[in-house]
Amino acid sequence: MNEKEVHGMLIDYEYCTGCHTCEVACAQEYNWEEGVSGMKVIEIVEKLPNDRYYLVYLPFPTEACSLCIGRVKKGMEPQCVKHCMAKCLEFGPVENLLEKMKGKKRTVLFRPR
Ligand code: SF4
Ligand code: SF4
Repeated sequence: MNEKEVHGMLIDYEYCTGCHTCEVACAQEYNWEEGVSGMKVIEIVEKLPNDRYYLVYLPFPTEACSLCIGRVKKGMEPQCVKHCMAKCLEFGPVENLLEKMKGKKRTVLFRPR
């Protein structure tokens, strides 16, 4: 990791299945006490015409998330990124992630304050 670049996490939740694996991976890495988590996945119900519904799952890092700085400094990915099988999460330089967001419908960029 080039420490001069600002790094963040791109969350591309279009194909998030709501499996909560990212939450579990974070909990196993940090052994959070009950009620604390570095990642939360929420379910949003979108109403469509003709009484149909579309479920959207939105994973988002909480204030407890450190972006796995300790792992990243050792050259590893954040745990949640590593374990998301749908490849919804990507860690990297913010400039690169902003480029990847272009043209995508459901993305969020998380970066440290
Ligand atoms: S980046 Fe690390 S601390 Fe943040 S949610 Fe993912 S696993 Fe948890
Ligand atoms: S971000 Fe990935 S690991 Fe987390 S709920 Fe969505 S699909 Fe599962």
